[in-house]
Amino acid sequence: MTTQELIAAGLQLPLMEAFYTIQGEGKFTGHPAYFIRLGGCDVGCVWCDVKESWEAGKWPIVGIEEIVKGALVHPARLVVITGGEPLMYNLGPLTELLKEKGFTINIETSGAHPFSGNFDWVCFSPKKFKKPHPSIYEQADELKVVIFHSSDFAFAEEHAEFVNPSCDLRLQPEWSKAERFLPEIIEYVKNRPFWKISLQTHKFMDIP
Ligand code: SF4
Repeated sequence: MTTQELIAAGLQLPLMEAFYTIQGEGKFTGHPAYFIRLGGCDVGCVWCDVKESWEAGKWPIVGIEEIVKGALVHPARLVVITGGEPLMYNLGPLTELLKEKGFTINIETSGAHPFSGNFDWVCFSPKKFKKPHPSIYEQADELKVVIFHSSDFAFAEEHAEFVNPSCDLRLQPEWSKAERFLPEIIEYVKNRPFWKISLQTHKFMDIP
């Protein structure tokens, strides 16, 4: 198989970085986890804090066995697959192998590409810059909407209508706008208690 065919089959993936840290956001805040950050994203968020991830060709193509080997070195059995936009790839084989090794597997995705893989927790963070693929709505365990502009509250409600009733709903201030929007988010959640607040606590802890 050529490299392109191996990537299409999900057996090799562009790996920007992988690191052991504490999950800072969302439902799993505070949990130690191994992050697998895949390169490549075509969503184009203006406030993206990993713009260097966008170009997939910049990153080494790594076999999934090697990726899993990296995760096994650390004591926690929680993996977070992120990007870039990880659903640009077929995540079936990687998640299958991680499952075989006993990992709980979470994903952070904008949902902009068709869903693939077997996950324990799907954190869906839709972006205005590229419409989510319809396959994400039934998969989402958590809807996390970044608040960067006042219109993002309405955007959050639009997506909340399509996820399962059991989906965790969270609003997260964009880091550079946290001071501006946090008071508004606090009031919003107090008045609509089906929403919760997510903060980027890893930035307070100064960890990746
Ligand atoms: Fe950045 Fe994520 Fe938006 Fe892609 S989807 S541009 S990686 S914030």
